[in-house]
Amino acid sequence: MPELPELQAHAERLDERYAGTALSRFTPLTFTALKTAVPAASDAVGHDLVFVGRRGKHLLFDFGTLTFVVHLMQGGRVKEEPPDKQPAKPKTGVARWVFADGRALLLSEAGTERRAGVWAVSGDPEGQPPLDGLGPDANDIDPPHLLELLHAKPMRLHGWLRDQRILAGLGRRLANEICHRAKLSPFASTAKLTSADAHTLVEAIHATINESLAYERGRNDMSSSADRPGAVHHREKEACPVCGDTIRAVEYRSYTIDYCPTCQTGGKLLADNTTSKFLK
Ligand SMILES: [Zn+2]
Repeated sequence: MPELPELQAHAERLDERYAGTALSRFTPLTFTALKTAVPAASDAVGHDLVFVGRRGKHLLFDFGTLTFVVHLMQGGRVKEEPPDKQPAKPKTGVARWVFADGRALLLSEAGTERRAGVWAVSGDPEGQPPLDGLGPDANDIDPPHLLELLHAKPMRLHGWLRDQRILAGLGRRLANEICHRAKLSPFASTAKLTSADAHTLVEAIHATINESLAYERGRNDMSSSADRPGAVHHREKEACPVCGDTIRAVEYRSYTIDYCPTCQTGGKLLADNTTSKFLK
């Protein structure tokens, strides 16, 4: 799933290429693509794209009169289509924006989940669906605020980092990388983390996001997950680049967490929660 750095770099790329160009039509390509009825998406037709932004894991296409808020979910992508390459029914198409100069942006979604979608919102999209209830962007947080949020909602650290209502923009990959960089167990209880831990975590959040952002900004299009830089994510059985120990994986609530025992858990192997009841 694309996370904050991938979406931020993509927003910057699309802004540079499309801002100032007028919309000539918006077409939902599936029945569930457009999640809102009011305002009418067609209200943006004839208006210039003011800017492309990002909030959490959403892209924002601001046409002044309204903003399209796009959630890519797991397999969604926004791809550029030249004027002569816009099939009427693209196979994985969800929605399309066609611009006055003939170019188009296609929201597509791989897989069968069909969860990517578009919200047309008037006024400031902040506080309105689907952005209502989002926590602050992960790259905007300082240590005192982070500590307050860590203690306000006691959870396992990895799940906490991925909870968009607490902190927006992080997914499984960045949560794995941040826990590793901060040398904290993915299962650490957020209620027990200290002010020093909050400082370490904020540094790890910023460094991890900046590393991925630099990588993404150097590309012409959004990366696929296998290309993205990292020390532990999807690197089970490889050597930890920091200490040389073997990266381990643990199943937790139907997803996989990758971590380094030496760096993060004092050498302890974390128990798979699907089998740990047999180990007690
Ligand atoms: Zn290590």
